[in-house]
Formats: sequence, C-alpha cells, structure tokens
Amino acid sequence: MEIVKDNKWMQLPRDILVGSGVINKVDEVCQDLLLGDHGLIITGKKTAAIAGKPVQEMLEDSGKNIDIFIAKRASMEEIERAMEVVNQDHIGFLMGVGSGSSIDVAKLAATNLDVPFLSIPTAASHDGIVSSRASIIKDGDSVSIQANAPMAVIADTEIIAKAPYRLLAAGCGDIISNCTAVLDWELAHRLQNVAFSEYAAALSRMTANILIDSADSIKPKLESSVRMVVKALVSSGVAMSIAGSSRPASGSEHMFSHALNKIAPNPALHGEQCGVGTILMMYLHGGDWKKIKHALETINAPTTAKALGIEDKYILEALVQCHKIRPERYTILGTGITRDAAEIVAKTTGVIS
Ligand SMILES: [Zn+2]
Repeated sequence: MEIVKDNKWMQLPRDILVGSGVINKVDEVCQDLLLGDHGLIITGKKTAAIAGKPVQEMLEDSGKNIDIFIAKRASMEEIERAMEVVNQDHIGFLMGVGSGSSIDVAKLAATNLDVPFLSIPTAASHDGIVSSRASIIKDGDSVSIQANAPMAVIADTEIIAKAPYRLLAAGCGDIISNCTAVLDWELAHRLQNVAFSEYAAALSRMTANILIDSADSIKPKLESSVRMVVKALVSSGVAMSIAGSSRPASGSEHMFSHALNKIAPNPALHGEQCGVGTILMMYLHGGDWKKIKHALETINAPTTAKALGIEDKYILEALVQCHKIRPERYTILGTGITRDAAEIVAKTTGVIS
C-alpha cells in the first residue's frame, strides 16, 4: 500500500541524540527502531574514514551485515545508483553519514523505497540533517524535494567539532535565516491567506533569536558551540515538521541563495549565502538588518560579497532574479525588485561596496 503523506502529517524523527561520543550508540538506536540486520551506509570519500567505517564496524561487531556506498554528490543519478544497491541486496534500512550530500542521497533513496533511514551528520552546515527536505542536483539545477524525515538523528559533537569551522558558521547562517523566512511567511499569510502556524513560526523565530543572542559563544573546535548549533537545527527542523512545509525556515533569503547557485560561477555554502540573504531581505522588510549582520560577524560568517568569494555583479543579478526561483512562494520580493533598488539594498547593507 502506498501511503501518501499530506502536509497535515507532522513527521518527526523518533530518536535524536546530540552529544559527545553518541555515535557509539548507533547499535542501540538501530535496536530501538527495530531496523533489522542488513543496512547500507551512504557516505562520502572523506566522511567514510571519519564516521562511515567506524559505524560499519560497530554494527558488524553486533552481528549486523552493513555495506558502504560512496556517494559522489547529491544527484538523481547517485540516488538511483543507491536504490539499485538496496533493491539488489535486499537492504532493510539506510544511514546517511556525512556533511550533507550523503544525507540527502540517503533521505531520497529511503523515501523512494519506503525504507527507514538514519541521519548521522559529520558537520552542522544546514538544517537538512534533521528536516524532511532534500537538496538535489537535477538536470544541472539544485532543487529542494520533499522527503521523509529521518527516523533518528545521531549528532556526535566530538566529530562535528573537528569539521572545518566554516561549516558550523554556515549552519548558523541557515538558522538566522529563519528571521526573514518567518516575516515572509506572515506576509504571505496576510496577503494571500497562505496556511500559517503560530506554533511553527514562534519556534522558528525563537530558535534564530537564541542563536543571535548567544552569537559570541559560537567558536571553533568547541563542542558546546556545536551542541548549540545542532539543537537549533533540530528546532528548525521541528518547526518545519509542525508547519508541514519549509516556510518557517525558508523565505526570500533562501531564494536569493538558490539564485546565486544558478548565477555565480563559484557559489559559496548554502548557509553562508542564506546568512547574507537574511541581511538583504531584512533591509527590504524594514527590520533590524544591522542586528543580523552583527550576529553573523560575531560568528565569523560571511556578511559581504567579498567574503562569499562572489563578485558584486552576481549578487545584484541574483537580487533581481531571485523572485522567479519559487514563484508560488510569496515573499517580500513580490514581483521582483529593480536593478537600482538592488544596488541600494546591497550597498546600504555593505554587502557590496
Ligand atoms: Zn536552508
């Protein structure tokens, strides 16, 4: 029987482990979720050594049969390749072990095959480690696809603290972007009667505000910083689950980031671009964009085109184009902003000079 989940379902992970050394609990989690004996780890080349192989060894020591699949990137081809392996070898569950694309491949392959999957992140660079959405490259474009939420999230702060700090700072940008996402959502609710959840909006806003208020405690190599960011990513994921949409954590600032991915020859990280997008969109909302900028600066996340490594002209082009990215999603961008207006926004906020 095929179960179609509409957005009235609040789908949440059942087990969420955040802490030092929690990766060692992977077997207990598999038992708790009654996952069976044959699993597939989807991981990357580097993350295989950091976490993929150790997870395989732990589970094999307890008598399970665990294969490893190295995903090159989060593309439709890789998802299909993973699905073939699962079908051929009659695998019962998947584990995405990595910084992002491995989790996205596992998430979509598991959703398509209707098997459970676990998210075991080695970095905390975006909310996809918890959420039911996957970012995938399809026909050369990056698209966001609705999928199942992970059955469990095992976020080992010791492992994540060793990942490059840039990834953690990007994760903060993705959380701070909730500020403008919620404003866009409220606007769409008022203007177009888009379904709105007070609970989801409040949780999402609060998550971003807690992080902004404690920006000075986000530092490299600190497990306490990782813990704070991972918990905020979990909260954002829960807000999206309550809403049954990505609205609480994705608005005009995400459209700006998606536009940059299309336009800029060398885009920066998702969360980095969303952070800069939040400064710009907060200006358009007439909100306190300086507070956003200051928080990102404190965290040492990019706040300018230069820091993103993207030329000013691509920033302006993305600003002018980004309302077309998801036309059904109403935001402060409305029917778009003019080139002169884009220049004023980007210059006033110091994103371009
Ligand atoms: Zn995001």
